[in-house]
Amino acid sequence: MAGMRHIAVLGATGSIGASALDVIARHPDRMRATVLSAGSQVEALVALCRTHRPDHAVIADEARFAELRGGLRDAGLLTQAHAGADALDGLVAGAGCDTVVAAIVGAAGLRSTLAAAAAGKRLLLANKESLVLAGELLMSVANGANAEIIPIDSEHNAIFQCLRSRETQGDVRRIVLTASGGPFRGRSRDALATVTPAQAVAHPKWSMGPKISVDSATLMNKGLELIEAHHLFGVPGEKLAVLVHPQSLVHSLVEFVDGSTLAQLGLPDMRTSLAVGLGWPQRIESGVAGLDLLTQGRLDFEAPDTDAFPCLRLAWEAMEAGGTAPAVLNAANEVAVSAFLQGRIGFLAIPALVEDTLALLPGGPAESLEALLAVDAQARRLTASAITGHALPA
Ligand code: NAD
Ligand code: MG
Repeated sequence: MAGMRHIAVLGATGSIGASALDVIARHPDRMRATVLSAGSQVEALVALCRTHRPDHAVIADEARFAELRGGLRDAGLLTQAHAGADALDGLVAGAGCDTVVAAIVGAAGLRSTLAAAAAGKRLLLANKESLVLAGELLMSVANGANAEIIPIDSEHNAIFQCLRSRETQGDVRRIVLTASGGPFRGRSRDALATVTPAQAVAHPKWSMGPKISVDSATLMNKGLELIEAHHLFGVPGEKLAVLVHPQSLVHSLVEFVDGSTLAQLGLPDMRTSLAVGLGWPQRIESGVAGLDLLTQGRLDFEAPDTDAFPCLRLAWEAMEAGGTAPAVLNAANEVAVSAFLQGRIGFLAIPALVEDTLALLPGGPAESLEALLAVDAQARRLTASAITGHALPA
C-alpha cells in the first residue's frame, strides 16, 4: 500500500463504524481514522475521538455543535468540531481523507456517499439505501470521478472477491445472494402478526443496528441487496437469485459460464468485509478467526418464503420496474420500520405499507437527484399518513 491511508468513518458510532475502527486500529503503521461522524450521539462520538484521535469530528444534528466542541475541549483533544451535512460533505470531499467508510443508516447517508464518489475517493459502501434510492446516479458519479467502490455488505463483498478471479467481463451466468432467513425463518405469515420489535432485532447470526435487523427479519434486507447488486455489478434481475442459508457462513456465490461456482466463506463478522475494503488489493488482519468447517458441521440451503415475507417480492418488483420505484420502496420501508420499532404498528404492517405506497405512486424515470429526493419525500409523507390505518391499540 502506498503511504498512509486516511479514512473518514461516517456513522462511526454505529455497528459498522465500530467494526471499521476496530480494523483500522489494528494497523497504525498503514492507516488512520482522520474524520469521524455521527448522527446525534455526542458522548459516544467524543469517546471514539479519545481513542482514535481523528483530526475532525462531525455531528449531523447542528443543535449539538456546542456540546461536541465542549466535549472535545474538555477531553483535551485537538480534534476539530463540525456540525451539519454541508460540513460533512466538505470534509469527505477534502484532502483530509482518501478513503470513506459510508456507514450512515438509511437515505440520510446519500449526500455524503455521493460527495465521496464525486471526489473520487475509495468508497467502502455499507450504506445500501443510497444505492437503492439513487443507484444509477451514484454509479455514474463514481465512474465519472474514478471513485473505487468496494462494497461492505457481506454478500456484495463476497461477490466482489469472487469476481476478481478472472480478467474478462460478460462471463457471469448467475449471482446468488445468500440470506440467513432472519429470526423468523420457518414461521408462517399468521405467526408473524404478533412478533415484537425486541424479537425482530434479535438476529440469530449477525449483530447489527436496529433498522437493518428489522429489514433482515422482513427479508426486505435481501430485497434491498438485490437492487444493490444490480447496480454494483451491472447485472439484470434474471441473473440474480436468493438462497436462504441459515448458518451465514457462505456469504454469496458467483456462477460463471464455464460451470464454475465460486463462493466466499467466513464467520459472520463484518470486520472481514471492512478489512477487504481497507487493504485491497492486499489481504490484512481483521481480528476475525478462520472458519473451521469441522466444528460448524453443516451448510444448509433452502428457498426463500415470499408468502410469509412479501418484502422480498416487493423489492424484486421494484427493481424490475426501475426508475423511481426502488426509491419509493426504500422510503416507505424506512418510515414503516421506524414506526414498528416505536411500537406503533405490527410487523405485518411493514410490507402492507410498502405495497400500498408503491401502488399509490406511479413510477417515473429517475432523471435527477432532485426528482429522486422529491419522490423520496412524497413516499415518506404518504406512508406516514397511512400508518394511522395500521396503528396498534395503545
Ligand atoms: P447503526 O444504526 O448501528 O449506525 C448508524 C450510524 O449512522 C450511527 O453512527 C448514527 O449516528 C448514524 N446516523 C443515523 N442517522 C443519521 C443521520 N441522519 N445523519 C448522519 N448520521 C446518522 O447502523 P449499522 O448497522 O451500522 O448500519 C449502517 C449501514 O450499513 C446501513 O445502511 C446498513 O444497512 C449497512 N449494513 C450494516 C451491516 C451490519 O452488520 N451492521 C451489514 C451490512 C450493511
Ligand atoms: Mg448483507
